[in-house]
Amino acid sequence: MSDTPPVRSKENFLVFGSPALEQAEIDEVVACLTSRWIGTGPRTARFERDFAAYKGVESAVALHSCTAALHLALVALNLQPGDEVITTPLTFCATVNAILHAGGTPVLADVDPLTMNIDPALVREKITPRTRALLPVHFAGRPCDMDALLAMAAEHGLAVIEDCAHAIETTYHGKKAGTLGDFGCFSFYVTKNIITGEGGMVIARRPEDLARIKVLGLHGMSADAWKRFGDEGYKHYLVVEAGFKYNMMDLQAALGIHQLPRVDAYHARRVQVWAAYDKAFAGLPEGRRLGLPAPPELDPDTLHARHLYSVLVDEAASGIGRDAFLTAMTRQGIGVGVHYMSLPEHPYYQERLGWRPEDFPQAMRLGRQTVSLPISARLTDADVNDVITAVRRVLGAE
Ligand SMILES: *Cc1c(COP(=O)(O)O)cnc(C)c1O
Repeated sequence: MSDTPPVRSKENFLVFGSPALEQAEIDEVVACLTSRWIGTGPRTARFERDFAAYKGVESAVALHSCTAALHLALVALNLQPGDEVITTPLTFCATVNAILHAGGTPVLADVDPLTMNIDPALVREKITPRTRALLPVHFAGRPCDMDALLAMAAEHGLAVIEDCAHAIETTYHGKKAGTLGDFGCFSFYVTKNIITGEGGMVIARRPEDLARIKVLGLHGMSADAWKRFGDEGYKHYLVVEAGFKYNMMDLQAALGIHQLPRVDAYHARRVQVWAAYDKAFAGLPEGRRLGLPAPPELDPDTLHARHLYSVLVDEAASGIGRDAFLTAMTRQGIGVGVHYMSLPEHPYYQERLGWRPEDFPQAMRLGRQTVSLPISARLTDADVNDVITAVRRVLGAE
């Protein structure tokens, strides 16, 4: 193996999550710059309208990230010190940081090992009189067991915030992700299913919550800058709360308004890549096997957004450890990701919250074995073949 050249040269490294971006976005950014209106304005308003229409809701608020969306959704709950929000240990740190910044106490419930989503039976065990909300993450774009979670929320009077960072396209029993709970939070970060560079969106069941989030996202001012300085005459703004600076720029929305109409086409491409990986890795020889993702659609009227294709590398079954696999793939010129080491692995949460990985054994094991392979809609068939070749080579199955 050492004298064989890598599958991809350094110059041709396959960047993990490199987004599909087309000429229309480039032209729109140039038009936006030329217009001199690069901050929050007409393109952001259009992106909000288009996204709301896509989700079949009245309105949506564009923000600079999903982290901001999660934060404001949690602020809108008016958490009091000691109020608890239950979420998953197998998520990006932003999910839990948002709870902390909104003044809540994050509480973890372990995941189902098959779906990698929060396990409703374990959520139930974590509900206390202090529990205020559930924050499920539709991991990799696979919807959580929302029937169970929503029933529990109704029974205990809990808010539900859906972290839909992986799940723009996700549907669950015919309903769109983000419309099932009280709030849906979306990400358009560079590696996500559609992108604005940095960017996020929030939708809410109650219009008054969304109106408040809109104000909170721009300093707590009662009207946005576009309306203030537009040609409808000068309007004074009034600060009604101590808000944040979370608004989306038109420069970002310039990408989003062209990405959104392609969301289904990009999904269809990732379905093809997923199928190619499934086919290639199902036949790996004994001792060189990978744990493959569960079949994507386990429920009727349900769509998996295929944000991540994550395999499990278990030394005993695969013949190589996870970290060695990551290094070897990188040496083969293929970018890989880890989604995620379980949150209790991180020192901050251990020190502040006393979390220990062993207390969430499913998330701990998954987090120590998981590797995400590239699945961007931008991948060509040749790229997919290179990933497959690299995996086989790294496992010693070539
Ligand atoms: C990416 C991601 C976020 C944060 O999204 P940003 O737009 O980068 O702030 C939150 N939760 C999950 C599960 C994510 O993958």
